Amino acid sequence: MTAAAQEDAPVAQHRRPWPATNEDTQFFWDGLAVGELRIQQCNECKVLIHPPRPHCAQCGSFDRGYLVSRGAGTVYSYVVFHHPLVAPFSEPYSVAVVELAEGSRLVSQIIGIPPSDVRVGMSVALELVEVEPGLILPLFRPTES
Ligand code: ZN
Repeated sequence: MTAAAQEDAPVAQHRRPWPATNEDTQFFWDGLAVGELRIQQCNECKVLIHPPRPHCAQCGSFDRGYLVSRGAGTVYSYVVFHHPLVAPFSEPYSVAVVELAEGSRLVSQIIGIPPSDVRVGMSVALELVEVEPGLILPLFRPTES
């Protein structure tokens, strides 16, 4: 490709990486589409399982269901990404492990505050955000100021 052709080439639009879905995780993504954060639950021993998997690690049952989280939680742990740059994310941004009131934990992002203000133990509430057309993610916003 010549230098002139490179200048005329369209700039690639970087998109977020989309989650891989399968039979085990489809209920989770279907839930987000209808406004629910669904956490897999074993129908035998009632333990919560996240991320979803084919069977219960506690009792071995393949009989799986889910509960719908109220969306209340606390920041269990977090990191702030500064580098390396990964398009399309703008830095810095937080990645947090949120412990739901129901007892399960999931990896998410804290929104609405600078990443430097995220703290372990901070109370957060679920906010389903369509980060790009068709992609809804369960993010969390602090409930205290
Ligand atoms: Zn079980």
